[in-house]
Amino acid sequence: MKSRRHPILLALLSAIAITANAADKELNLYSARHYQTDEALYRNFEKQTGIKINRIEAKEDELLERIRNEGAASPADIFITVDAARLAKADELGLFAPVKSRLLESRIPAHLRSSDWFAFSTRARVIVYNKATLKAADVANYEDLALPRLKGQICMRSGSHPYNISLLASLIHHRGASNAEAWARGVATNFARGPKGGDTDQIRAVAAGECGVTIANTYYLARMMRSDKAEDRKAMEQVGLVWPDQQRQGAHINISGGGMLKTAPHKEAAVKFLEYLASDQAQIHFADGNNEWPVVPGVKADNPALSAMGKFKADLLPVSTLAKNAAEAQRIFDRVGWR
Ligand code: FE
Repeated sequence: MKSRRHPILLALLSAIAITANAADKELNLYSARHYQTDEALYRNFEKQTGIKINRIEAKEDELLERIRNEGAASPADIFITVDAARLAKADELGLFAPVKSRLLESRIPAHLRSSDWFAFSTRARVIVYNKATLKAADVANYEDLALPRLKGQICMRSGSHPYNISLLASLIHHRGASNAEAWARGVATNFARGPKGGDTDQIRAVAAGECGVTIANTYYLARMMRSDKAEDRKAMEQVGLVWPDQQRQGAHINISGGGMLKTAPHKEAAVKFLEYLASDQAQIHFADGNNEWPVVPGVKADNPALSAMGKFKADLLPVSTLAKNAAEAQRIFDRVGWR
């Protein structure tokens, strides 16, 4: 009898031993967030936990494709990216595992997370105008950019970029699809030139007077304010920032965030990492290093550019709902020629 029991007992004991030894020593991070300053953020986690981060950086779509191709054998533990609609897309593909963490739930406001992924920093999409040719009151709201009086004065990034898709998705939610389409058409009619370049290019074009107004993410403005290059700081003196829609829903907010993958081989390390990103230290890093706002209320960052921007009313629309209108937003941009 005894001898028959032994193998089972041994197997049981070794299983327990494996579990006990399984404290994760590494973490595989797939990141579509490309900010040099994030390096320090990761090194700090390694120092605190002794968990080594293996980071693969690539474009969003490449990483998603890779995770899907790797399937159950994927080494990826965490996927992080920018833009809420992109995170929601990864979620729709069924890539994320739900994470139950009291810490994350208590620190991250509900409109900045879903059950499967979390925002760790926010940025606002604001109106930027040339102070020599326009006044802040001329461009107080997103709607103003569609008015005929701004004909030939608008520079914009492509309508296929997620930042603009999520902005339009929010306007579809707040104003309805047909109003949102009329707005996009009005803006496209006012273009000074066809959409090209990134947010920084639009800000530079406004500063140079090539156009009167654009829409850009706040961290690009802050980055130029804090730039080593005199020409960037000079450009920032030519432009003004407007927090749009302050009497209505507030300025459109987008996020950077991430989640744990369903197939993550290092789940314990993955949750630790997500919780680390919500720590005061990491939150301050997002603000100081990349000029984004912490998601955790009360975290005080010491970033002169963010302080200079002042306070504003942010749209509290749950960012996880932006994806719902993303496809519609893209169709509208295509229809109105905001390419
Ligand atoms: Fe960006």
